[in-house]
Amino acid sequence: MNRIAEISVSLPFTSGASVTFDDKIEVSLDCHVCRRYHRTVIFSKGESKGKCLPKKHPFPGRITAKEVSQDKRLTTVKYRLFFDYEPFTVEKSPETLKTSGKLTWARVSYMITCPACGEFTEGSTQNNLVRPLNYYCDCGQLLYSEVKEMPVLSWIDKDASPMEFPETSSCEKKRTLSCDRPQNNDPNTTLEFIRMLTVLILFGILLLICTQIPILLVAKTNPLIGLLAAVAAIPLWLSIVRPMPGLLQGIICVAGVFAILIVNIICLVKVVSWLIS
Ligand SMILES: [Zn+2]
Ligand SMILES: [Zn+2]
Repeated sequence: MNRIAEISVSLPFTSGASVTFDDKIEVSLDCHVCRRYHRTVIFSKGESKGKCLPKKHPFPGRITAKEVSQDKRLTTVKYRLFFDYEPFTVEKSPETLKTSGKLTWARVSYMITCPACGEFTEGSTQNNLVRPLNYYCDCGQLLYSEVKEMPVLSWIDKDASPMEFPETSSCEKKRTLSCDRPQNNDPNTTLEFIRMLTVLILFGILLLICTQIPILLVAKTNPLIGLLAAVAAIPLWLSIVRPMPGLLQGIICVAGVFAILIVNIICLVKVVSWLIS
């Protein structure tokens, strides 16, 4: 009997993170080849057979589609799995006597690039995890949070009982869409880039204000007023450009403080020379 299952994962990856889902998935199945319940079987996209663990014997099944989509902050991957299922029973087994052919567990792996430090992190999600969970990069950047159980396992073949797996597949309805759609084509990536560019420009304007106004006041009015403005510029800068989140903002924050400190020194020298004269 042929069955088609869908394994789907939706996660809110942090803004700016780039994610690549693995072509390999691991699922738990009743294997009629070695006649064992709940075997972990590995399927890799492009390969004609799966691998049943721990003996690694071939399992009749393959990944027929992998689809990645983006909806606002949520990245979703759906794998369609086609496999052969034959009912069998194992005598004297302490477990259920009849096999169901349904997936009981799955693990989906991915590679994520940290938006703060640019480092790659390998990760995975599976059904039997204690949630909620937060995943961080080694640099401290939050990569994503998991609240609901993942992956969602469902049938999309007509033989399956709707009582067993009530979820319907959106992947099936979107048959005409090409799978493995690259994430970079998503308009959200462009929007994110524009947002980042705007923030960088605003930070640049703020730094110009914080450094140029004190110097202007020293030249045009009393040097003491210029010095006071330069001192006030430090808390103003720190209250808007906080050193978090991310490495880039941290560098911009520290660089800005240095620039304002230099202006403070210039103003102080002007005040001292004004007082002496
Ligand atoms: Zn097996
Ligand atoms: Zn990082």
